[in-house]
Amino acid sequence: MKQPVTINLEHFFAKRLYPLALGISLLISLLFPVTFYLVEYQGLKRSATLYAQNTAEQLKGVIIETRALWKYQIYRFAELTRDLSNDKEVILIRVFDERGAPISNYHFASEAASSWWNRHPPEGTAPIIFNNRHLGRVSIGVSQQRLLLETAALFAVSVATGLLLGSLTYFFPLNVVRKLEAELQDLFDRLRKAGRDSDQLRQAAQASERRLRELIEGLDAIVWEADPGEGRFTFVSHQGEELFRIGVEQWLAGDDFFAGQIAPADRERVVAAYRQTCRTGASRQLEYRRLAADGSPVWIQDNLRLVTDDQQKCQLRGVMVDISTKRTADEALRQANTELTHSIDALERRNREISHLHELGEMLQLCRNLDEAYHIVSIAVRNLFRTEAGAIYMLNDAGRRYELAIDWGKQPSHPTAFPVETCRARRRDEPFAAEPAQPRCSNTNCSFSRDYVCIPMVAQGDTMGLLNLKSPDLHGHSELNSGAGHSPDLQLAVTVAEHVALAIANLKLRETLRDQSIHDALTGLFNRRFMEEALAREISVAQRRGSAFSLIMIDLDHFKRVNDTFGHDAGDTLLREFGIFLLSNVREYDIACRYGGEEFICILPETLPEHAEERAEELRDRIAARRFEHLGRALGRVTMSIGVAAYPHHGSTKDRLFKAVDEALYRAKEDGRDRVCLAKTPPASAAGSEGATSAMPGT
Ligand code: GH3
Ligand code: MG
Ligand code: MG
Repeated sequence: MKQPVTINLEHFFAKRLYPLALGISLLISLLFPVTFYLVEYQGLKRSATLYAQNTAEQLKGVIIETRALWKYQIYRFAELTRDLSNDKEVILIRVFDERGAPISNYHFASEAASSWWNRHPPEGTAPIIFNNRHLGRVSIGVSQQRLLLETAALFAVSVATGLLLGSLTYFFPLNVVRKLEAELQDLFDRLRKAGRDSDQLRQAAQASERRLRELIEGLDAIVWEADPGEGRFTFVSHQGEELFRIGVEQWLAGDDFFAGQIAPADRERVVAAYRQTCRTGASRQLEYRRLAADGSPVWIQDNLRLVTDDQQKCQLRGVMVDISTKRTADEALRQANTELTHSIDALERRNREISHLHELGEMLQLCRNLDEAYHIVSIAVRNLFRTEAGAIYMLNDAGRRYELAIDWGKQPSHPTAFPVETCRARRRDEPFAAEPAQPRCSNTNCSFSRDYVCIPMVAQGDTMGLLNLKSPDLHGHSELNSGAGHSPDLQLAVTVAEHVALAIANLKLRETLRDQSIHDALTGLFNRRFMEEALAREISVAQRRGSAFSLIMIDLDHFKRVNDTFGHDAGDTLLREFGIFLLSNVREYDIACRYGGEEFICILPETLPEHAEERAEELRDRIAARRFEHLGRALGRVTMSIGVAAYPHHGSTKDRLFKAVDEALYRAKEDGRDRVCLAKTPPASAAGSEGATSAMPGT
């Protein structure tokens, strides 16, 4: 641990400043007064010399050639002295002879001359020259009292000034030094702290670098740096050697070897991407294939970015990772996803189809007749498949031909019928799908183009017909022909065909049952039950419309004799033939029924009784002209008795109408048979109670 630096400039400077300050004090204290004294002293001496020169000049007037004379001229000297002594400065006057000896009479000394401060007064001398003869000299001393007083005063001031300047010289720099010392100390402290911080930073930087190095070393990736200008690697971590099996020195050699490592398919794209990153500085992630030594592709992911280093130089840096495993997993995942999506799509589609099938089944249940069923099937099939065209063919009663029940789509010419033998689907009792490459049917008489699928409609083991579909969904089902199983779409089509077949079978059964329930089995005419319902319906319609209708009741005369004479079968034949006769001799909207035995009833809507009577007569005439045979034997002349009644003329209820028509027939029998009798109009009260007769048209 370094000892903290302690600065003691104050002490250092104090030691040196002290003598300097003292010297300055002394110098200033003494220099000025001494200088002043010396200068002034010289000035006084010059004054004294001037005095001496004046005095010497004045003494010329009192010169006496001899010494003796000097003595007598003493009073003159005294006058001079008196004049001179008026000047307080002159304190001493002495005159010397040519030998330099003082002439005692010419000596003057004031009282001040005896003062201690005038012990060495400034003196000036001047020679006394008379007629070029040196007679002696005059010496005058002046008082230095004032000089000494001024010098003393100046000394006092100088001492004060010297002490002040000395103090300033000592304390001011010392103060400055003290501040300087504090600042220096602070600076040192800061420097020391900065040094400490710098040490810590250096250590942190070293630790960070070590960590980074360890990280790079531990990475399963190649960390690299390249000079974008020269286009060569400047650094490659050792993984470059391990992963690529290429020595680091080769990486750094800069012979552009790396482009050769990239698979040709990706090379152009990757090189362009590197160049663009160098140009724009935009970071990017690249994935490309590298060809391993054995030529197999290895997927590499490279994350590039352009950075500027401390020397403001651009560097391209990147991290390369081998992502082959990830790519394989991704690919597998993508494939699994695709399969899953397809499965989901298929499931959804199947769901939709099941829903459509369900709807189809329900709608078929609601169908009242086959035409409705065909129509519904044609719509349902278009919902289920992308059908371009289609048709339903039903096997005719003889089971020898397929007859067109309904068709749809663009196909212009579905045949209206074709023989069963020309269809392979019928023969094999399974769907048949054609492939463009192979003839659909070996039978060249097949009426359908090759892209049709023909599915037999089979219900309870019986083939009802054919469902022919032209749909792209059903193309490519060659496996059908080989019996290898059905594709989902074709299976759906088969299911549809089964549904349709079953529905049609049901409808047919229903129609048969209904037919049987309302028809008479022998004659094919409506039966009595249906007739009663129809009569009730006609009454209600006539009531609503205010219209009329008629009823005729027919009884074959002496029918028992036919039975008796020709046998029961002949009787049946006659009845059957009569049914046909009746049907062919009534209007389309008339209702012909077998009432029972050899009795028949026709309901003639919108027919007045007189017209009905005429019709009955016509029937009677025609039957009379008709010949019936059984097994080649003529059954003799057939006559019939007919009763006619009308609504509302002869009754406004079913029972009354029946009664009226029955009575009319009875009368016809009674009157000798083979005739027509109109019912009698009921009495007015009865008619009134029924409330209709007079109101009806034509009455
Ligand atoms: P009428 O002139 O008085 O009507 O004499 P009819 O012989 O026609 O009348 P009748 O009531 O005496 O006889 C009707 C006969 O019709 C009796 C019955 O055997 C016969 N018959 C009824 N239904 C059938 C049937 O379905 N087939 C055959 N073959 N005969 C039937
Ligand atoms: Mg009868
Ligand atoms: Mg009869």
